[in-house]
Amino acid sequence: MALPKLLKDLMSLPTAPFLESAVMDYVERTCRKLAGVKIKYDRYGNLLAHYRRQPRKITPLAFVAHTDHPGFAALKMVQPRTLRAEFRGGVRPEYFAGSKVRFWNNGQWVKGRVLKLSKTLPPKLPGGPRVPKEAHIQVGKPIPPNTLGMWDLPEPTLRGDRVVSRACDDLAGVAAMLMLLQRLCRKRARGEVYCLFTRAEEVGFVGAVGAIRARTIPKRVPVISIETSSALINAPIGDGPIIRIGDRVCVYTPQFATFCVRVAQELAGRRKSFQYQRKLMDGGMCEAAAFGAYGYAVIGICLALGNYHNMDTHRRKIGSEWVSFKDWQGMVDLFEALVLDPDGPDAVDDSLRTRIDGLFEENQALLRQE
Ligand SMILES: [Zn+2]
Repeated sequence: MALPKLLKDLMSLPTAPFLESAVMDYVERTCRKLAGVKIKYDRYGNLLAHYRRQPRKITPLAFVAHTDHPGFAALKMVQPRTLRAEFRGGVRPEYFAGSKVRFWNNGQWVKGRVLKLSKTLPPKLPGGPRVPKEAHIQVGKPIPPNTLGMWDLPEPTLRGDRVVSRACDDLAGVAAMLMLLQRLCRKRARGEVYCLFTRAEEVGFVGAVGAIRARTIPKRVPVISIETSSALINAPIGDGPIIRIGDRVCVYTPQFATFCVRVAQELAGRRKSFQYQRKLMDGGMCEAAAFGAYGYAVIGICLALGNYHNMDTHRRKIGSEWVSFKDWQGMVDLFEALVLDPDGPDAVDDSLRTRIDGLFEENQALLRQE
């Protein structure tokens, strides 16, 4: 089997923080073909797609995914074949020297190799690694300033259930949201949903914070942050998409988590092949934390990711990232079920209360015996 076109196309595109135009153009072109989807850019260049068709009287949802991936931006040729470039995103310093890279120059990849890390910043956390800032890179020909660079890794493929790509994070999320919009349009589904495609997440949610300040998503709309997140011992690849109830710094909105879990449970009941996980992914943070800090109701949905940020910890080399294709398909199914849920995120869910009240009624007489 081959990768679906959306995944293959998106994962083949060049992208890096603040240099996401190829991905944005692709998202825009795809959305323009969809009747019922309106698009607009906010003043920071984030793209909002809005699907609305005879909406029911329930609160709509917003999905958010970022369009960048850790990568380089060319600064200056310091010698005829040596480029000084900035690195944007979280990759440990020991992965740089000797690794192969490629720069997207006038519609063509130009290959290169990192000679050395020439500048690092102090660790973000006490005891953590220093933060790579600039590298000297040997390149095949001169590269103009602000050209984007990525690790030189093979084109995306499907191997068994593995989607292997130089950038799953977060093009897998972007593709899943586009797939959702395509499905809703094809089915002429009744409902309303926002899909926000953000910029520069990898340097600290910069696009998302811009979108929050610009009120790109209405404040009353709860936000589902879509991510790939480093697989954990208790959150493995292949056990289904993960409803992420929090991250390294905060927990998300409990009532909204209850809604998502209820919808996932019901979907699992209807469709035996659907699996999901409910986890605290505390390895990192995601855009849900930013939206939550500004008062939005938030939750995360993520895919467990292998070789997080291209760090192949077994071979100690730069390598392709990977996710499970089945997890990805399950994630799109879950998106659809969330959007089409008849009750919506604001309905009061008192199932837990009913259950514990039942236990109380059953046993309360014993409290009085002594
Ligand atoms: Zn990400």
